[in-house]
Amino acid sequence: MKLKRIISLFTAVAMMCGTLAVSFAETDYDTKIAELEKKIERIAKENKDRLAKIDTYKDNAAEMETLKALVEEEMDALDVQIANQSELVAAKQAVIDTKIIYINELDNNIRKAERLISNAEAEIARLDAENAANIYRFGQIARGMYMSDGYDIVGLLAGSSDFYDLLVRSEVMANIGEQNKTFMDNLLATIDEQRKLASQLELQKQSLEKDKLTAEDEREVLNGELEKLNAEKRTFEAALYDEQLTLSFYRTKITGIKENIENLKSQFSASQNEQEVINTEITKLIKAKQAAEAAKNKPDYSGDGFLWPLDSRFHMITTQFGYDAWRGGNHYGIDVGDGGIGGANIYAAQSGTVITAYNDGGYHGGYGNYVVVDHGGGIATLYAHGKTGGIVVSVGDEVKKGDVISHVGATGWATGNHLHFEVRIDGVAVNPFSYSYEGYNP
Ligand SMILES: [Zn+2]
Repeated sequence: MKLKRIISLFTAVAMMCGTLAVSFAETDYDTKIAELEKKIERIAKENKDRLAKIDTYKDNAAEMETLKALVEEEMDALDVQIANQSELVAAKQAVIDTKIIYINELDNNIRKAERLISNAEAEIARLDAENAANIYRFGQIARGMYMSDGYDIVGLLAGSSDFYDLLVRSEVMANIGEQNKTFMDNLLATIDEQRKLASQLELQKQSLEKDKLTAEDEREVLNGELEKLNAEKRTFEAALYDEQLTLSFYRTKITGIKENIENLKSQFSASQNEQEVINTEITKLIKAKQAAEAAKNKPDYSGDGFLWPLDSRFHMITTQFGYDAWRGGNHYGIDVGDGGIGGANIYAAQSGTVITAYNDGGYHGGYGNYVVVDHGGGIATLYAHGKTGGIVVSVGDEVKKGDVISHVGATGWATGNHLHFEVRIDGVAVNPFSYSYEGYNP
């Protein structure tokens, strides 16, 4: 009868009572149970690795989040700088626009002056031509008076054969001369006036052109300043673009890490389910095996009168029975983890037969070194994480309530010295605190 095998069953037994009509030989149960147990051990190891990986990923994600937050802060600062720069550019542009309007006005005025000058010049030319025509006409008349009709004006004035005629002719000539002189004086005055006007216009035009040159110089300076502001703005925008690239790099990284964590979590959860399925199977096998044991007529002990498996001063419960979020699964017992508990005695909670006793420091599905005592009547108790070399019973030993069976250690899946204690009814883990314990006075 390989009781040693039964031990391991308990390790992994899940909650589920199925009835199984068993017709295998006992050794078949043992082989089957051992295989399933190994499988569970492997899955548990993989899950432990997954938890470690998740922790690493979480650290990485936290670091990325910190870096991302820094980039976002820098981007906020750049946004402010760009906004300021935009205001400066807009203000400068407004000054330049005003300057351009002023230059355009100057241009208009220059063109207007040019038109007036051109008009004045045309007028001068016209008057000049009129003057020239007039002088020519006066010359013609004068020549005609001296030379026409055979009169010799010199002889006429000296001999004066017809004085009246002379008077008449002289008067005519004088009239003609007077009219022409007045006309020509007026004409010359007008020409002079037009020339003065044209010259004034020319001065005005020169003044406007000078203003225009000044304004254009100012516009050049403003354009230079604007270009400088725009260049600064472009520098900030380029920096912002770089930050955006960095930000999207971190976002992608964080998304990737989160996906990895989700994948691991779903793998973890799938493994938990797989373990539950295997545990169910083991429970069935144990029940079948216990049914065979029951035929052997040993005394039955009940859960009434259980003894607290540790000295009374050790009573701090670090993990309760039931669902445990940190494990992402069920906790099939209670953990007792007071300071200084390492190496403390572990007592049999009730009399019975030792059906499991590992003392080799192996992992054993997370239990490490552990002992299972069968109390008959389907009741068994389990004591896990025993100190290496600290197990003092062997499979098949009959123990009395209060006998030392093991010592507290941290073998298997344990982060420190503690006792993991289970009560199982027909292989199914129940809350140990469904019972009371002699010596348990928290
Ligand atoms: Zn535990």
